[in-house]
Amino acid sequence: MSLSRSPSGGGAKGNPTERKRRPAAIRARRLTKVYGEGETAVHALAGVDLEVARGEMVAIMGPSGSGKSTLLHLMGALDTPTKGTVSIAQRRFDSLGDTELTLLRREKIGFVFQFFNLLPALSAEENVLLPALISGRRDAATRDRAHGLLERVGLGERANHLPAELSGGEQQRVSIARALLMNPELVLADEPTGNLDTTSSGEVLSLLRELNRKDGHTIVLVTHDPDAASKAGRVVFLRDGKIAGEIRGGSTKRVSEHFAALG
Ligand code: ADP
Ligand code: MG
Repeated sequence: MSLSRSPSGGGAKGNPTERKRRPAAIRARRLTKVYGEGETAVHALAGVDLEVARGEMVAIMGPSGSGKSTLLHLMGALDTPTKGTVSIAQRRFDSLGDTELTLLRREKIGFVFQFFNLLPALSAEENVLLPALISGRRDAATRDRAHGLLERVGLGERANHLPAELSGGEQQRVSIARALLMNPELVLADEPTGNLDTTSSGEVLSLLRELNRKDGHTIVLVTHDPDAASKAGRVVFLRDGKIAGEIRGGSTKRVSEHFAALG
């Protein structure tokens, strides 16, 4: 059994030409999101174009309120755009109904949240299994996969622990294992280290980076931390609901300078 997304792994390898030719895992076109109406309307996104190739790891940075979570929620089919299109593996999903969206979310997208969102009454392994249980799958192979993923994130020994018996960093690693259970097309992480101490943050980031580089998972990560963002192959900056530039392969210093310039 392989826990990798691609048999060859090596997600971030390859020269720029190869990178261009890789198919898109997700493509967002002219995405607009307006919350509310009339005078109180908030234009959270104002025409965002973003394409993430299979096997890429992209960080999204921007000041608070710049639309990062909104963008991630639209890419993760957790919400629908006011205007614009989103497609995963060439399939548009911005106009799907609730049932189809739920299915797509369950099978194609792994979500990692700042506050882990684990169910407190379930063990680590049951939490990882949850997406399959919801789909009515409780076969031995799926259980093996859940256990394998817990081992992959370094928590094989903690499979029977409840979330309250785990540290923040460990809980986040459980939630990463859960995000990978259905072998999604992409993993979206909204400030996954925002609630962790420096050591746990480092561990979670190394894990995400490894899942990208070694296992070939496509990852989009929202973060405030230039050091975390610099681990991604590409950093996209958002300001006032618009893309405000991007850099590839930047150092922490370069990322910090761009971020600071956003004001
Ligand atoms: P970020 O994640 O970059 O901090 P968000 O995407 O959460 O930004 O928010 C972008 C803007 O949209 C902010 O002005 C925020 O207040 C507003 N917003 C976000 N969600 C909602 C909502 N459900 N209802 C109304 N306004 C919202
Ligand atoms: Mg946010």
